[in-house]
Amino acid sequence: MILRLGHRIPRDQRVSTHLALAARALGAESMYYSGMRDPELEEAIDKVNRLWGGSFKLIYVDDPFRLIEELKSDGYKIVHLTMYGVNINNIIDELLKIDKFLVIVGGEKVPKEFFYISNFNVSIGTQPHSEISALAIFLDRIFQGAELDKIFSQSMYKIVEVKKGKKVVDISSLKESNLL
Ligand code: SAM
Repeated sequence: MILRLGHRIPRDQRVSTHLALAARALGAESMYYSGMRDPELEEAIDKVNRLWGGSFKLIYVDDPFRLIEELKSDGYKIVHLTMYGVNINNIIDELLKIDKFLVIVGGEKVPKEFFYISNFNVSIGTQPHSEISALAIFLDRIFQGAELDKIFSQSMYKIVEVKKGKKVVDISSLKESNLL
């Protein structure tokens, strides 16, 4: 699970959409977001789910601290991604032993309480980049590449890998022609 802090309309709409897309595509089951509730963001992700399948959920949360406390008492470990944390290269072995995570990604300025409430503050290198690249690398390290083979059930379309060009299968018409 992911928690994106402090979403602002219109400023963060593009980045938060891409963050949710990255979370969905790279194996997370859900993303909570706090800040401003955004029906456009929710609709954009619903649309991707309808076309491309899977059961990814985007959930607005009013009080991120309450969510964190609830998940902690349910056995989740809280990982806050920040350039000020421990380099992932130095802590990945410990993280790989954990099976339930909430991964926090910040916005412009993250209140200091999140640094203390988290079980781990983890950096993806010690240079500033973005919430999307930080989350993508984190998920890839945790899932060790397996997320790229994930199958998204109940999709309308499926991409067939080809060396050149594009091949997309419309699953609904295949079903009608009894090819599946
Ligand atoms: N000064 C911020 C920080 O604490 O990492 C960078 C702000 S950046 C605009 C927004 C978010 O991107 C951060 O809250 C963090 O979650 C993520 N981020 C950016 N660079 C990162 C890095 N090197 N390692 C881990 N997370 C990073």
